[in-house]
Amino acid sequence: MNILLLGSGGREHALAWKMAASPLTDRLFCAPGNAGIAREAECVALDVADHAAVIAFCRANGIDLVVVGPEAPLCAGIVDDLEAAGIKAFGPGKTAAQLEGSKGFTKDLCRANHIPTAAYERFRAAEPANAYIAAHGAPIVVKADGLASGKGVVVAQSVAQAQAAIDMMFGGGLGEAGGAVVIEEFLDGEEASFFALCDGTTAIPLTTAQDHKRAFDGDQGPNTGGMGAYSPAPNIDAALSARVMAEIIEPTLRAMRAMGAPYKGVLYAGLMITRDGPKLIEYNARFGDPETQVLMLRLMSDLVPALLASRHGQLKSFDLRWYPDPALTVVMAAKGYPGHYARGSVIEGLEDAAKVEGVQIFHAGTMADGTKILANGGRVLNVSAIGKTVKQAQARAYEAISRIRWPEGFYRHDIGWRAIERESH
Ligand code: AMP
Repeated sequence: MNILLLGSGGREHALAWKMAASPLTDRLFCAPGNAGIAREAECVALDVADHAAVIAFCRANGIDLVVVGPEAPLCAGIVDDLEAAGIKAFGPGKTAAQLEGSKGFTKDLCRANHIPTAAYERFRAAEPANAYIAAHGAPIVVKADGLASGKGVVVAQSVAQAQAAIDMMFGGGLGEAGGAVVIEEFLDGEEASFFALCDGTTAIPLTTAQDHKRAFDGDQGPNTGGMGAYSPAPNIDAALSARVMAEIIEPTLRAMRAMGAPYKGVLYAGLMITRDGPKLIEYNARFGDPETQVLMLRLMSDLVPALLASRHGQLKSFDLRWYPDPALTVVMAAKGYPGHYARGSVIEGLEDAAKVEGVQIFHAGTMADGTKILANGGRVLNVSAIGKTVKQAQARAYEAISRIRWPEGFYRHDIGWRAIERESH
């Protein structure tokens, strides 16, 4: 098969690494890709937002399957456009991708189908939103309805902070994404990410992960796209996993099918494990980043047949096997991220770092300049490792990092602390 992967981050590098290893793959292309992906795939300078150009490329290169990494093209309907052109694509169509693209859509779907989630209300204007906040008090959570690259959620500790978020969003601070908001109840508990592969009718659980969203050690500092992750999530056992499937994932699939928009692709549920059980915080309509990096290290089976089974509606009799060993990834970011940062600094020592046992280094934002690797983004590298324990995986990842020479970068030193604390009990 000839496969085209869309995206350019660490998630796509991990997917490319896994797909390149499949005996089903003849040629693997990635648009636009990065310096690490270029070792697994032929990178092509396509504008992913230009669906006609992507379709033309697929026709010219005999592409048998397009795998869409990020949410923006999914929400823009690239899967519908490819399928209409007779090209097979992995991922949800535009209507189904609203599970990520509109928080209000997902909340209403939960309410209508008794899916456990935080109590909420939707608003289109600041005045009633601020009145609702005053009536309910803090802590309270304010969310922009649309895609906001992780900047659209404010967990407010005071009424004033929540109202400031409302004024920012309705004041246009997040562009179109903030034209409507969801205000919801604050949930207390421990978070976990749950991934399911769906084919419109059937969902099979992939595995679980936890991530670290804050920029600095001790879970301090600003929120980011994710500074590290590990899998499995130690707070989800088999019984809880079955509950998530029965109470959250399966009712969602039934509701989407009933709506005439069957959900295909990866359904990524951000969960809060509360005293009353698992509750849905949000859905993503794609693989997580950086969670995919650890998922791919733990996936024993070939990924390509699983993606095809999702596209073809054949997951009913499908089975995926995983290594029981945990995996962990540490994000190396450019100094200044998630705020302003510089591009173009040189990264050295990657080959030596990759020699550490169990380690895979996925590139998130890099570009090649001759034989040199340059930083080309906020999150730049995902130093990932598998081990017998989270502690061992962590030690391996940090050993590899110690061999990387990149003074313009930074990383957290405590990725996995919660899981390691649990291991030592
Ligand atoms: P989201 O983008 O919806 O995943 O939200 C980002 C982060 O905000 C989540 O990972 C949680 O840490 C936090 N969060 C979102 N909604 C809630 C809630 N209802 N209660 C507590 N924390 C929340």
